[in-house]
This record gives sequence, structure tokens and C-alpha cells, in this order.
Amino acid sequence: MSEAEPFKLCTTCKKPIGFGASYLQCSVSTCNRAKLAQFFCTLACWDAHLPEAKHRDAWAEPMTAPTRETFLRDQQDELAREQRASARESSMSDEAERRRRIIGAPSEDLPKDVLVVVSKLKAYIKARSGMNTSDSVTEVLSNQIRKLCDAAIEVAQADGRKTVLDRDFK
Ligand SMILES: [Zn+2]
Ligand SMILES: [Zn+2]
Repeated sequence: MSEAEPFKLCTTCKKPIGFGASYLQCSVSTCNRAKLAQFFCTLACWDAHLPEAKHRDAWAEPMTAPTRETFLRDQQDELAREQRASARESSMSDEAERRRRIIGAPSEDLPKDVLVVVSKLKAYIKARSGMNTSDSVTEVLSNQIRKLCDAAIEVAQADGRKTVLDRDFK
């Protein structure tokens, strides 16, 4: 913004309204919406917008334009707020990225091997109960072990380690 630039231009006559100057605002809220706000340098200029605006009840409110310093400071505050908001957003997407890395390779690419020693498993169940063990049990147990491992991997990664430890299975 150049030094010469005024606070606003009068909506009606386009004359500049300077920083720190008095001006008029319409009392009707639709004439003051953020992007469409109207500013009037004189009562005559405010009167001039009435035929088109068709307000049922309206008056001109005397206002004082901010000083250039206040105006610039408000703009900078606004900018800082926006930057803080977008910094928050990008840290949220970092978090999403971190989560994605923890999940790692898509599960269809992972080995589906049996993770238990089938003979030892069957021997244990037999010794414990005298029961036989269906072969499909090994697959279910392997899937359970994979789920436990996935959870432990997350714990280790959250801890910044490259090694999964026994305590990650707690
Ligand atoms: Zn005017
Ligand atoms: Zn109005």
C-alpha cells in the first residue's frame, strides 16, 4: 500500500476518505458486509445510495477512519492470524503423514506366512487338553500375531525406535 493511498473511497462520489478522517456508514447491516461495505464522505453521498438500497429504515452513522498506523497494525494482526491458522493446518497434515508412515506398506503386499510352529502348537493343545487342533487355527493365530505386531510397531515408532522391543507388546 502506497503512502498516498486513502483509507477508502466514497461509494457514491469516489472521493478519498483519508486515514483518521470522519465519514458516514449506513445503519443497515447489508450495506456493511465485509467485502461489500459502503463508505460515504458526506450525508449527501449517503442519501444518494438510498433510492437503490430501498431500506425501510436507515440512518447515517458517523464514523472515524482509523489512523494509518492502526489500520496497518490490524492488517498485520490479521495476516499473523492467518499464518498461524495455516501453520496449524500443515502440522495436522504432518501428523496424518506420520500416521500413514506408521501404517506403512499396504497389507496386501505383506507376507501371509504361518507365524507359529504348527507341531509345537498342536503339541501344546494336546498336552493341555487332549484335544486335536484344526489346521486352519494356525492361520487365525498368525493373523492375531500380525495384529499384535502392527500395534507394537506403532508403539516403537512413536518412541522413535527402529527396534521392536518386548515392552511394545504391553
Ligand atoms: Zn462522497
Ligand atoms: Zn444502506
